[in-house]
Amino acid sequence: MDLTFTENQKMIAQMIRDFGAKHIKPDMMKWDESQEFPVHVFKALGELGLMGVLVPTEYGGSGFGYLEYVTAIAELSKIDGSIGLSMAAHNSLCTGHILAFGNEEQKMKWLPKLATAEWIGAWGLTEPNTGSDSGNMRTTAVKDGDHWVINGAKNFITHGKSGNIAVVIVRTGEVGDSHGMTAFVVERGTPGFEGGRKEDKLGMRASETTEMIFTDCRVHESNMLGKEGEGFIQAMKVLDGGRISIAALSLGIAQGAFEAALAYSKERHQFNKPISDFQGIAFKLADMATEIEAASLLTYRAADMKNKGLNVNKESAFAKYYASEVCVRAATEGVQIFGGYGYTKDYPAEKYYRDSKLCTIGEGTSEIQKLVISRAILK
Ligand SMILES: Cc1cc2nc3c(=O)[nH]c(=O)nc-3n(C[C@H](O)[C@H](O)[C@H](O)COP(=O)(O)OP(=O)(O)OC[C@H]3O[C@@H](n4cnc5c(N)ncnc54)[C@H](O)[C@@H]3O)c2cc1C
Repeated sequence: MDLTFTENQKMIAQMIRDFGAKHIKPDMMKWDESQEFPVHVFKALGELGLMGVLVPTEYGGSGFGYLEYVTAIAELSKIDGSIGLSMAAHNSLCTGHILAFGNEEQKMKWLPKLATAEWIGAWGLTEPNTGSDSGNMRTTAVKDGDHWVINGAKNFITHGKSGNIAVVIVRTGEVGDSHGMTAFVVERGTPGFEGGRKEDKLGMRASETTEMIFTDCRVHESNMLGKEGEGFIQAMKVLDGGRISIAALSLGIAQGAFEAALAYSKERHQFNKPISDFQGIAFKLADMATEIEAASLLTYRAADMKNKGLNVNKESAFAKYYASEVCVRAATEGVQIFGGYGYTKDYPAEKYYRDSKLCTIGEGTSEIQKLVISRAILK
């Protein structure tokens, strides 16, 4: 597999570096402290085509493939993981679900708004009592004429409050039946649909995470994605692609933490020499660089396979599991290399450290990735 960046990847990476230096870096610590989701940045990234990276041009998207998508998320996350997470959730989950399973009318109706970031997308699978075990969900939809009435709550939803549109997977059959769940699109403003409590988080603080609450929320049957009973299977397929984006997010944060630590190790002097001269520090950097390279290979390989239309169930889990664990290790060693300064907000190491931990949790924890991988290899 040739991993040399294409002209498009180079162009996207440069565009994000320029954008980030001007519109993200100056304010990102302010957003982090106040937990502000910078909607204007999200919209500006939409104008650059980054909120519909995988959406074909006929639906208003950029029409790129997974290699460009991984490059974009990694480059953005190198600057700020929160913005990378929001971009990943919008593109892979909400938009990705409609793109993969919507009919032509639904795609024409919603994708152009999502791809340009005129609308912000949310995707609700997780509930307060069912995360890893999402198939055990309790939010229901009951048929009433040509409508479905949704009741229940979704938890930990990226853009659960600011999102203009949500894809939500709800129970339409028996608990325990993987064919007893269905996906619906719910637009903001639909009576009975509202955002709930906003989480106060360790990291990724500029990415909004809230509840979504449904109280007798009536949704027309034309908002159903695919057929009744297909929702859970659709969601698992969406996550197969989504995990590549979380691997890219992990890769970006790890690279950011590494580059910051590398530069600092050459500037910081102790015992009359740069700390990079100490083998204890140089070997940390060597481990970080090696693991990041390996994570990059796994992530781009999964992306390449996805582009080719191959089943990436195992490969996206490989990438997500490994890259997210590498991300946490790199961010942890990053703080260590900065020493006491790494523990302060004067340097970027502490933010990478806090942001990194989400990567081993969101879109399936590391334990769940190992479940997916072990099931695949033991088949
Ligand atoms: C910032 C953020 C953004 C998110 N965005 C979204 C979103 O947009 N949409 C959405 O639907 N969800 C979202 N989530 C939810 C996320 O996907 C879940 O938090 C995640 O899947 C884990 O579920 P849980 O939190 O309920 O943990 P639990 O499932 O309760 O897991 C707790 C622990 O038990 C372990 N565990 C559980 N089952 C097993 C098992 N079978 N074997 C071994 N160990 C196991 C887990 O690995 C974990 O260590 C988000 C979460 C966060 C924190």
